Amino acid sequence: MRYDLAIIGSGGAAFAAAITATGHGASVAMVERGQLGGTCVNVGCVPSKALLAAADARHVAAAQPFPGIATSAGPVDAAALIGGKDALVEQLRADKYVELAADYGWQIVPGSASFTDGPVLDVAADQYLVATGSAPWVPPIPGLAGAGYLTSATALELDEIPRSLIVLGGNAVGLEMAQLFTRLGARVSIVEALDRLAPFEEPEISAALRGVLTDEGISVHTGATVTTVTRDHGRYTVSLAAAGQLSDLHAEQLLVATGRRPVTTGLTLDVVGVKTGERGEIILDEQQRSTNPRIWAAGDVTGAPQFVYVAAAQGTLAADNALSAAGRTLDYTALPRVTFTSPQIASVGLTDSQAVAAGLRCDCRVLPLQYVPRALVNRDTRGLVKIVAEAGTGRLLGVHALADGAGDLITAAGYALSAGMTVEQLADTWAPYLTMSEALKLAAQTFTRDVAKLSCCAA
Ligand SMILES: Cc1cc2nc3c(=O)[nH]c(=O)nc-3n(C[C@H](O)[C@H](O)[C@H](O)COP(=O)(O)OP(=O)(O)OC[C@H]3O[C@@H](n4cnc5c(N)ncnc54)[C@H](O)[C@@H]3O)c2cc1C
Repeated sequence: MRYDLAIIGSGGAAFAAAITATGHGASVAMVERGQLGGTCVNVGCVPSKALLAAADARHVAAAQPFPGIATSAGPVDAAALIGGKDALVEQLRADKYVELAADYGWQIVPGSASFTDGPVLDVAADQYLVATGSAPWVPPIPGLAGAGYLTSATALELDEIPRSLIVLGGNAVGLEMAQLFTRLGARVSIVEALDRLAPFEEPEISAALRGVLTDEGISVHTGATVTTVTRDHGRYTVSLAAAGQLSDLHAEQLLVATGRRPVTTGLTLDVVGVKTGERGEIILDEQQRSTNPRIWAAGDVTGAPQFVYVAAAQGTLAADNALSAAGRTLDYTALPRVTFTSPQIASVGLTDSQAVAAGLRCDCRVLPLQYVPRALVNRDTRGLVKIVAEAGTGRLLGVHALADGAGDLITAAGYALSAGMTVEQLADTWAPYLTMSEALKLAAQTFTRDVAKLSCCAA
């Protein structure tokens, strides 16, 4: 049989494309060499957030801030915790992927795909979509490969909580993992090569987050180069060079979270004229079409921001363009990103330095959470909201938050950005009292009044 569309991979990008393609009345085959559902449901978003929620419950029980309330947290039954997470993953995989694919009725072909001069596997199609995702990238550190290490995927499968853990990488995945294991009882160190944690976020957020994590007992090493890794009698030694000083860290486990790179090895893309970039990402035009006009790509394999909602939007777009010549493109201006630490980091739009690099004159304000009523009643004022606006016009350029619930707040900020609002307009919006979203309106008000004069009762 010859299909209208053959898709390689079965993650967020692949599923969105297949659903869209069936909507066009197209016949679809999906090739998958691993577990149906890809990274997000199996080893990414779902299991990590399920365990972070559990670790948060334990942390709150151990350190809740309210007078007159007594709680305590005992040891973690790792087998039960991981078993519960596995059951949730299985349920979601069944509901959202296996049964959904059966309902839509596209063909699933198990196996590893590679391109030859014509068809992929035994699947012949008019159009192809590569949605093969990304995999952990491991730096070439002497001794690391021989010593062995955990990745985010294997760390979520441990059947006991290590007493100590070193995390290499202080970006989203490394930060989430570091806090997860700390809150489950491990002694954790983070090593980041750049000079601050969350290095792509606003510096105020990096600094405040460092304070939060060190208060929780995490030891943070920034601007640190790992020179060697050794493992002896089940114990790791990670040697560091930082600011001209040499030091060693020791731990029972080592987790490498130094980024993920597109998966294209084995696809033999060169045989069919599909070009890839320096990191293996498939080179595309704005419509997701590769350098072979019959081959499209979507999701992490394209080098796009690594979020499942980006993968899904690109998959939908690619299927539309491949099957109906829709000529659609995506606008990433108001693309939000969230790191699920506690408090969460959430951002949308330009940072201060990006605005300056874009030649814009910017005006930035930072509202510490101690001025936000919701944070005060929660007795958790760790964090801030920073607004980046264009000087002169007041046009909103970016919003950046470190706050409990920042991921929800940022959606509203994204709407404001998409609507082209000014800080003045944002300051004039309705905001329900005692919500974290109110921090947006309050931060916008700091452009016209002193932070100490903010009041819930002033419009
Ligand atoms: C720990 C972690 C936490 C995350 N948390 C979040 C989050 O909270 N929110 C969020 O939005 N994003 C999160 N992400 C990112 C998100 O999971 C990815 O951006 C998204 O899953 C990418 O989807 P995709 O469809 O591009 O690829 P994937 O979901 O990775 O799917 C690719 C599939 O292709 C298959 N494949 C590869 N090569 C071949 C081949 N040759 N033949 C056949 N099959 C092949 C693979 O087996 C895989 O199943 C997280 C990622 C990680 C690692």
